[in-house]
Amino acid sequence: MRVDGFSIPEALYIHVPFCVSRCTYCDFYSNVASRAGVDSMEGVITRTLDRAEALALRFGADHFDTVYVGGGTPSCLPRPLLRRLLSGLGRIAGAPREWTVEANPESVDPPFLDILEESGVNRLSMGIQTLDPSLAQTLGRPGRPADSLSALRQAMMRKLRVSADLIAGTGREGGLIQEARILIGEGVEHLSVYDLILEEGTLLEDLHRRGDFALMDEDEDADEREGLNEALAGLGLLRYEVSNYARPGTESLHNCCYWRMGSWLGAGPGAVSCVEVLPPGPSSARPGIDGASLRIEEARCLEGRQEAIETVVDPLDAAFESIMMASRTVVGLDRNAFASRFGYDVEELVGKTLATWLPKLRIEGRRIALAEGALDLGSAFLRDCLGEIEGRKQGSVGRTQTKKS
Ligand code: SF4
Repeated sequence: MRVDGFSIPEALYIHVPFCVSRCTYCDFYSNVASRAGVDSMEGVITRTLDRAEALALRFGADHFDTVYVGGGTPSCLPRPLLRRLLSGLGRIAGAPREWTVEANPESVDPPFLDILEESGVNRLSMGIQTLDPSLAQTLGRPGRPADSLSALRQAMMRKLRVSADLIAGTGREGGLIQEARILIGEGVEHLSVYDLILEEGTLLEDLHRRGDFALMDEDEDADEREGLNEALAGLGLLRYEVSNYARPGTESLHNCCYWRMGSWLGAGPGAVSCVEVLPPGPSSARPGIDGASLRIEEARCLEGRQEAIETVVDPLDAAFESIMMASRTVVGLDRNAFASRFGYDVEELVGKTLATWLPKLRIEGRRIALAEGALDLGSAFLRDCLGEIEGRKQGSVGRTQTKKS
């Protein structure tokens, strides 16, 4: 589907930039809710709904297949404000097939779940991170890990599909696999397990620098991930993306839109939209000319005074992004979709890399993916792809351009 030279976005992301407190490892755009105050939160929600509506109108989206309300911590919003946000989104999005709201266990309570239910939300993504009290304290997580199971049970009783986030790469009492087993035992059908990264300028990075916190080394990390993959497969949750596991049929449709480089809109401070730019008329894509994306980054501020920044990502950069996102997934890159967007087969762009990596690739019909066991080698694969693509960039036209909107 298209409107005025753009693909019609199918997914909507909403960023709620408030949390109960700041975790020691986090560099997402978020503010402590009690410091921001209710007036500021109300202003942000009003502007976010207005912005989502304006973007939907501009790109011709009269409904969305998926909506994801993330942050930040949407569950820490005062309940009347949460109700206003979700009912406003319902008017903009129609009845999405998948509608996810992120929550932290300490702010899950019956009124929160009532609002989700009455708004048509059907999926809850719970930021559990760890069940180890000592690690939770080091990470600065709000609430107590013991509350996580009670929050999960409350959500399960509402028949919500529940996903849980866990952090990997840290030693913990009882082990990551045991924590995952407990969550699955409670009915979690989707797990996102992200490696802890020491982001610059965070408290945790400081602790690490001073020798008060250690990450696992690369080998321990790889062993942990391998053990996790096996244990989860034994419990029926298959790894379908580098950090994500699901019972077949419960994969995150919203995130799949990102990984196949569909078009999506993002509203709320710090959110990002990415929309495919289409060739003029019914003509097919012209190699090197078509396939660009329009990227819109919302300003990271609560007052709404700064403008969003719009960037046209040129076709070569967009082609690399497509390969990068697809290489994270088990289904991999759809060669037909790639060729129809960019006007040439992926082999013409990174043929040498594909030949070198052939033993580590899985090729099924028109799909190419990193084989099982090579999924964690994505960075090396992408370095090779990028090297090959950089060679082509010399002399290319229509490079990335940025402006404010
Ligand atoms: S709750 Fe999530 S978004 Fe908020 S500070 Fe912690 S990790 Fe960051």
